[in-house]
Amino acid sequence: MILLISDLHLEEERPDISRAFLHFLDTRARQAEALYILGDFFEVWIGDDAMSPFQHGIAAALRRLSDVGTRIYLMHGNRDFLLGKAFCREAGCTLLSDPHEVQLAGEKVLLMHGDSLCTLDVGYQKMRRLLRNPLSLFILRNLPLGTRHKLARKLRSESRSQTRMKASDIVDVTPGEVQRVMTQHGVKTLIHGHTHRPATHDMQIDGQPTRRIVLGDWDKQGWALQIDENGFNQSAFALD
Ligand code: MN
Repeated sequence: MILLISDLHLEEERPDISRAFLHFLDTRARQAEALYILGDFFEVWIGDDAMSPFQHGIAAALRRLSDVGTRIYLMHGNRDFLLGKAFCREAGCTLLSDPHEVQLAGEKVLLMHGDSLCTLDVGYQKMRRLLRNPLSLFILRNLPLGTRHKLARKLRSESRSQTRMKASDIVDVTPGEVQRVMTQHGVKTLIHGHTHRPATHDMQIDGQPTRRIVLGDWDKQGWALQIDENGFNQSAFALD
């Protein structure tokens, strides 16, 4: 059995989500061969050298799971793209590039965070290209801690009144970009998060049945996609 989750937006200010996640690790995730976390795992990440006790605690919980045999794979989201190798070593997980092709249940599947699919948000895509090139990443990682904290606060306050991003605040994926990426990688299934619009969309690409599975964000409830002998099934669960 394989589990996929995304957009937990873990932060100290939401102990309900962290508690639900720790419970998820101790129960369902223990039965899984692999756990995939497709980005925005943390609400904010300013560098592996600036981990809070809260973030070390999450790393330790992941490490306990990987020590009992569940492989853990992590992809960057737009909130935690500075997450790096040191965190992954500590947490016992493997960092995946975005997009990532993988065989799941005998099928080639494409995994993405999903932000790169929202091409109509031109300003965001410009910012993404700027921030995610290797030189910017190097500079960001080497800024003094105080500056990074200030930047993170600025980004957060700009994300509309400190409240959690609702699906309606996030630009949705562009259908043409979805089709282009799926054709380029030759996949019939794409799994991504980011948009906070959990669903399975059945589509036709070049006359072939294809599907796009959108993982839900953890806010009012938790979401997980389970892949087993019954196929691909996403369900929600209460956080408490
Ligand atoms: Mn995101």
